[in-house]
Amino acid sequence: MHIVVIGAGIVGLTTAWYLRQEGHRVTLVERAPTVGMGASHANGGQLSYRYVAPLADPDVLEKLPGWMLQRDAPVRFRPRFDPQQWRWLLRFLKACNRHDKARSIASLLPLALHSRALTHELVDTHGLAFDFVRNGKLVVHRDARSFEEARRLLESAPELTAAQQALDGEACIALEPALARLRGRIVGGIHTPAEDAGDCLKLCRALAARMTGAPNPVKFAFGREVHGFARSGSRITAVITDAGAIDCEACVLATGAAASALLRPLGVDVPIYPVKGYSISVPIRAGANAPAISVTDFQRKVVYARLGSQLRVAGMADIVGHDSRISRDRITALLAETGNCFGDGFDFGAATPWAGLRPATPTGRPIIDRAGADNLWLNLGHGALGFTLAAGSAQLLADRIAGREPACPDEDFRVEAPSSRSRRSACTTVLQTPSSQPRSLRAPVAPSPSARPRPAGSGCGRAAARSGPARTPSSRAPAGSRPSAAGAADGDRT
Ligand SMILES: Cc1cc2nc3c(=O)[nH]c(=O)nc-3n(C[C@H](O)[C@H](O)[C@H](O)COP(=O)(O)OP(=O)(O)OC[C@H]3O[C@@H](n4cnc5c(N)ncnc54)[C@H](O)[C@@H]3O)c2cc1C
Repeated sequence: MHIVVIGAGIVGLTTAWYLRQEGHRVTLVERAPTVGMGASHANGGQLSYRYVAPLADPDVLEKLPGWMLQRDAPVRFRPRFDPQQWRWLLRFLKACNRHDKARSIASLLPLALHSRALTHELVDTHGLAFDFVRNGKLVVHRDARSFEEARRLLESAPELTAAQQALDGEACIALEPALARLRGRIVGGIHTPAEDAGDCLKLCRALAARMTGAPNPVKFAFGREVHGFARSGSRITAVITDAGAIDCEACVLATGAAASALLRPLGVDVPIYPVKGYSISVPIRAGANAPAISVTDFQRKVVYARLGSQLRVAGMADIVGHDSRISRDRITALLAETGNCFGDGFDFGAATPWAGLRPATPTGRPIIDRAGADNLWLNLGHGALGFTLAAGSAQLLADRIAGREPACPDEDFRVEAPSSRSRRSACTTVLQTPSSQPRSLRAPVAPSPSARPRPAGSGCGRAAARSGPARTPSSRAPAGSRPSAAGAADGDRT
């Protein structure tokens, strides 16, 4: 089948990768002159499989009034005459409760772990190079209450105790000596050895380079903006660009934060809004005190990752519309934070500043679904986790297009996901809230019309047995029960 994928960010590129592996003929259309020029360009570099908690958190409601008054708050909101912004914000505030947060974590965690297996396959089997490191992650807390909460969350689930470790301040510094300047200020930290980091832009380039080669090369159409679709009945027959139409048998929209405008004329309303963040890439001087482990400063909401010879520092969430201009005060704040944490062994004068628009849904859950036409597919809305979730989401979509049982539960990634009420009533999975109270969530509902019936014994809590071409054992989500919400640590979003 000839499939046109729109958008050459990390999500569009991984989508093209798995569709090409299935034997489809793929054309990738991108308005920029090359790959990775949107949100995938200079993100935080964290492959954060266990830290999938959404930005929508009950704590946000408490903190929001203070943030509105604080100039350097990690979250900034600039009201606009934009109904989309207000609709998104209302849905976001509605999602700031323990139940929705637990639900998002419960659906994101299997996808993230599936993505980890696939990302490792890209490195180990396909040899893609993107400064990938299996260096682990240390989330440091400066506040005793937040550390205590994180520690209690960890102790509430045996599966977590195996994957993560709570350390006091001195043990954090012993593990990552680059944090020595923060002695006395770090109360403690949570160490997750199995997290990775890498350069998302380099992965975009590596995927593109590999896909242009034989067999079955992907065709790239750069510098072409898609404006709409030609239809025949319920099917898309061509993608209309500013340089003419491209015929297709199916189409995938992977346009990040710009998705809504293309979907509205088709009667599809996706709750995706840009949440702007910033990064700096700072050259590391010889002998500098740069961290080897990826570090998250929990209170400052800033992440640090060593990518090759640079330190990537990222953070902030500005809800200011489709405005990707770099704000000088945000960059100054990132430079100052880096100096305060790790000293002056960096070439701050040569730091590269960047701003990007996270394609955010109110709940933090992506949209991996079919909508607007029988052959129009969406892979959108990965928010602060697009690098982490890209490979898993892309293969999930390939499963859906092939009509196969998806590798992990995907019903929460539909345009119209089932309501919280119906999920609660059908609940079988027990989740732990941070306060350790059991909470019930539902099992997956019936398979999608396009999916095969689940094999006996599969269903909620199971990575489905898979069939079809291009599968390897390592590309499956971990077998066994679906990880609980307690299996994902909190508050790491950049
Ligand atoms: C500051 C910051 C830090 C982050 N840190 C992390 C992190 O540490 N870990 C992590 O997992 N994630 C992180 N993220 C999130 C991650 O970067 C995004 O979720 C991810 O890049 C989204 O990828 P995408 O392909 O959906 O979108 P994009 O990369 O934005 O790609 C969409 C592409 O579609 C193209 N396009 C749009 N409309 C059209 C059209 N009409 N016609 C043709 N082309 C079109 C755009 O030009 C663009 O190239 C961070 C994001 C930011 C901003």
